Amino acid sequence: MDAPITFDGRPGPTDTLGRAMRDLRISVTDRCNFRCTYCMPKEVFGADYAFLPRDQVLSFEEIERTARAFVSLGVEKVRITGGEPLVRRDLAHLIEMLAAIRRPDGGEIDLTLTTNGSALRALARPLAAAGLQRVTVSLDSLDDAVFGAMNGIDFPVAKVLDGIDAAIEAGLAPIKINMVVRRGVNESSLLPMAAWARETGVILRCIEYMDVGHSNGWRLDEVVPAAEIVDTIAAAWPIEAVEPAYRGEVAGRWRYTDGAGEFGVISSVSQPFCRDCTRARISAEGMLYTCLFAADGHDLRAILRSGASDADYTDAIEAIWLRRGDRYSEIRSGATSSLPRIEMFAMGG
Ligand code: SAM
Repeated sequence: MDAPITFDGRPGPTDTLGRAMRDLRISVTDRCNFRCTYCMPKEVFGADYAFLPRDQVLSFEEIERTARAFVSLGVEKVRITGGEPLVRRDLAHLIEMLAAIRRPDGGEIDLTLTTNGSALRALARPLAAAGLQRVTVSLDSLDDAVFGAMNGIDFPVAKVLDGIDAAIEAGLAPIKINMVVRRGVNESSLLPMAAWARETGVILRCIEYMDVGHSNGWRLDEVVPAAEIVDTIAAAWPIEAVEPAYRGEVAGRWRYTDGAGEFGVISSVSQPFCRDCTRARISAEGMLYTCLFAADGHDLRAILRSGASDADYTDAIEAIWLRRGDRYSEIRSGATSSLPRIEMFAMGG
């Protein structure tokens, strides 16, 4: 039977709202060396916090098998994330395994990684050699006092900048920079970050502070809405909107009309984009989440470890996608704020 073609003209299952499966984010660890206040605050994730024991984390073979199943169902982009993915031992070997996966049409997958950049000086080159194509580096400020307070461990800006240089040298470009903008915390860092990105040639992506999980004590008044971020940048340099490159692209994009590149804004709170969401997320322990704000996942590890064949495994994933109807951001309200949610570090951002 031919797969239904409704979302973007390319084959693959579509969910109950007609959305295809195009992007897969795989968290390779729940551990992180940072304690960002908005993600893994140190008051909650202290020395006695129980992270996953090793045997509960998916092995490289299980991750590769899972990615292969998703690619056979239409996934074209795979992003490795965490926790902090660079703390997973021998990550370059996993990248090599994933880079060998081919789409049903024989094409390569788009293979990227999101990192806090702290270990890129050592790892950018081996990761690029293993087949990693690009990286996104998270950096919330160029001011050490602001950044140190936000990352929770006083990690210096200079070391992340050096990691970004290493990634550029290794050819992992174009490099995107994720900046979470939090009212009263790092708004004043916005224009210096934009100016630096224009000079360096990296693509700044400002992210609205989101109500993922419950540990960060999120409040709506701490969100700087995308429109305000765009207005602030537009007051400094002339910009124009860029058409989305593909359906399902999450960042609203703007180009500097003087030719100094572009920036993006991810407005999951103020302008939700659920109707075009083509993302699936897998936690380090192998739970599949079909929404960033999900309360429950689907236990893929149990299927993997039950001895299921590749065909059975792929069918199980397809069946989950066909039932998907999540659109949390569109229905976010006072009533949804107290619902259970999985933490961002566990789901992998
Ligand atoms: N450790 C890696 C890193 O720092 O990029 C990957 C995982 S991290 C969870 C992925 C992204 O999620 C980062 O860019 C981080 O800033 C973002 N993030 C975490 N919590 C967030 C929140 N509450 N709102 C918006 N973005 C958040």
